[in-house]
Amino acid sequence: MRFIALLTSTMLLAACEPPEYDLAIKNVTVVDAVSGARSNQTVLTRADTIAAIIPSGESARALQVVDGTGGYLIPGLWDFHVHLTYDDADADEMARLFLDYGVTSVRDTGGRLDLIQPVVERLEDSDEAPRVFFAGPLQDGRDVVYDGESRPEIGISNPDPGAAVANVGLLAAAGVDFIKVYELVSPEVFGALIAAARANNLPIAGHVPLSMLASEAGPQLGSMEHLRNVELDCAANYQELLDARLTALTNPDGLPGGDLRSSLHTAQRMPAVQAVDADRCSEVVASLRGTIQVPTLRLNALSVQPPYGRPDWPDALTRLGGEQAEAYRTLGESRLASTDETDTTFGHWSLHLTGLMQGAGVPIGAGTDTPIGLAIPGYSLHNELSMLVRAGLDPVDALRAATVRPAEFFGLSGEMGQVATGMRADLVLLGGNPLEDIDNTRSIRMVISKGHIVRQWD
Ligand SMILES: [Zn+2]
Repeated sequence: MRFIALLTSTMLLAACEPPEYDLAIKNVTVVDAVSGARSNQTVLTRADTIAAIIPSGESARALQVVDGTGGYLIPGLWDFHVHLTYDDADADEMARLFLDYGVTSVRDTGGRLDLIQPVVERLEDSDEAPRVFFAGPLQDGRDVVYDGESRPEIGISNPDPGAAVANVGLLAAAGVDFIKVYELVSPEVFGALIAAARANNLPIAGHVPLSMLASEAGPQLGSMEHLRNVELDCAANYQELLDARLTALTNPDGLPGGDLRSSLHTAQRMPAVQAVDADRCSEVVASLRGTIQVPTLRLNALSVQPPYGRPDWPDALTRLGGEQAEAYRTLGESRLASTDETDTTFGHWSLHLTGLMQGAGVPIGAGTDTPIGLAIPGYSLHNELSMLVRAGLDPVDALRAATVRPAEFFGLSGEMGQVATGMRADLVLLGGNPLEDIDNTRSIRMVISKGHIVRQWD
């Protein structure tokens, strides 16, 4: 009986010849960071998967056909460091802008669980939203930087290793995709967080804790954010700086966590940059070859290349709209008009360090910290790609930073990051070749997310 029923339905299918694919994007040059550029291709998708890639001359039946002649089809981009629920951020508005700019996946690197969870669920259910991978709250130490006092409440306290194990267990049960370790943890708590995350099969992102050296903490992390505190390990007097931090971290004056951290950055960051020992720094950098670095250069080097100096800034403000755009416009105009010297030392240091890392074969990821520091969702990812190239990455490596590296972090290399059969159907059709000029990632004609055409421009 079963056999006959199956045969009948197959015959019916053959009789009316339904399209084999949902979407065909014809006559494109396929570009990704693994296989480079392949011209005259047709990419075929079924549901949320790239089902086949065939030469343009061959025919295939699809429900929807797009002629991509002259275009370059790349994998959907990732912003590997965002905060969808930071302060009064409007997550739905952010999701809309991410798609406008071809960002089809984001990694949310810190937010209160009760705020981020409903956002993740809503966006997951939507056909018109980026994929979201989230960490929940920042795992901080006894003292907490983001404690809801002077800064938003997105950190939680881990006074001892027992608390660390319990917190990671709770987050794993809540369905987080990774754990984010923050700056005020002690080495003991750091170790407990790492072990607990591993036991729960969760990737780990983090800032280098102030109580540790980058070369010590970094190799235990899957990704490191903002190049934070790396300069302290690169300094000739790194031991002296560390000893001073360990004393200050006992927090005899009972400072709030945010103030405690700021006081240490203020006291040590620039002196460390001035005292960098090149030989020592190459050793520190070499120790990070297994850890994706997310330098967030568009933020770290804002002083070197502010977004309001870019020709496409006014257009991005128009797309952002509302009071936020007005505030950014006013701020940009006043800074451009200002004759005050801006200190670009740290910005240049960040560019330099990223170049060193690239040269040493350290993997780089593209993240922006949106919405912090004048970041327009989506738009700022393209600025980050430009900055990565400015720091010394080839365009193909910048593309890798926003596609292949994030997929690797989550163990999803077989599903995301390339335009290849079997990958998720997240794609961006560009007017120019990004391997020739990274700014061509801005020439977006069409965005396909989860197998659906969600944006299309002439
Ligand atoms: Zn962040």
